[in-house]
Amino acid sequence: MLAAVYHSPGDIRVEEVERPSIGEEEALLRVRAASICGTDLRIYSSGHFKIPPGTSRILGHEFAGEVAEVGSMVKSLTSGMRIAIAPNIGCGVCEQCIQGHNHLCSTYEAFGISLDGAFSEYMLIPKEAIQQGNIVPLPEGVSFEEAALNEPFSCCYNGSRTCRIEPGDSVLIVGAGPIGIMHLFLASLSGASKVLVSEMIEERLTEALEFGADLAINPAKEDLPAAIGEATDGRGVDVIIVAAPSPAAQEQALELAAPQGRINFFGGLPQGREFINFNSNRVHYKQLVVTGTTGSSNYQYRKSMGIIASGRVDLSPLISARFPLSKVEEAFTLAASKKAMKVLITP
Ligand SMILES: [Zn+2]
Ligand SMILES: [Zn+2]
Repeated sequence: MLAAVYHSPGDIRVEEVERPSIGEEEALLRVRAASICGTDLRIYSSGHFKIPPGTSRILGHEFAGEVAEVGSMVKSLTSGMRIAIAPNIGCGVCEQCIQGHNHLCSTYEAFGISLDGAFSEYMLIPKEAIQQGNIVPLPEGVSFEEAALNEPFSCCYNGSRTCRIEPGDSVLIVGAGPIGIMHLFLASLSGASKVLVSEMIEERLTEALEFGADLAINPAKEDLPAAIGEATDGRGVDVIIVAAPSPAAQEQALELAAPQGRINFFGGLPQGREFINFNSNRVHYKQLVVTGTTGSSNYQYRKSMGIIASGRVDLSPLISARFPLSKVEEAFTLAASKKAMKVLITP
């Protein structure tokens, strides 16, 4: 079968590799759609601690497809079933896993990181993924492509939920890439009265408005605090989601938040720049809640899939381009250029 194999930073090759053979408790997925994530781009440019030098790996953790083969002991899957798979597999027995936070398991395995992923014609589904609820049958009407996008959407769902957005709240989203737009959708769905977006790339500002933002601000050209003040009658915003890897944006969030504001640091910061100037008195005197989230649990992955299935959110306009496996390098280059929203590989 054909697969895009990562060998080392800067080196991904489309190769003929052996199709995985399954054990009696495993299954095989025929991948139909897999989207490229910022994490894939970071691995491609600088590697990952779970992929030691000398190891090769098939990347891709946002995906959906059809069950191609089922081991004799697997009762929950049938051949031809349309499924999506939450990529983080917990150990199943630690405190976090028991609480349902399998994405916070300290010994998790993940497709496209520690296990071979979906930039491939077929992908092995290990028994842990089957037994621990990582697999979600696709609801009727949800396409493979939308289902692939459910992975980042579920992470946004996790982040959005920690901010407890209430009807009538004002929300600021920093960063209008695909993640920022997904947050915009979720904020609107939660009843936000105003969703403001801050973003430095002009085309993305225009897109944010098209996707329903009430105001799109370029902080490189405009005075962001002044614009926020004007939009909120000087109160500040109730919720801020920082969906950009920017230390300055995280620091500024404390200034822009209204009293009792909730802040989510959604994007991690680049290594070496993770220490910020945190005005702790802002948190104290404004009674702010500062949260961070990473990934999503199997349960959240199901909940967000339910939102897609309801039709209340349409993620398909976020798909900017589709490439066959053979053009994976081209696809990565486009995704890294920030000229596209989501780029899909359709093996
Ligand atoms: Zn991702
Ligand atoms: Zn665990």
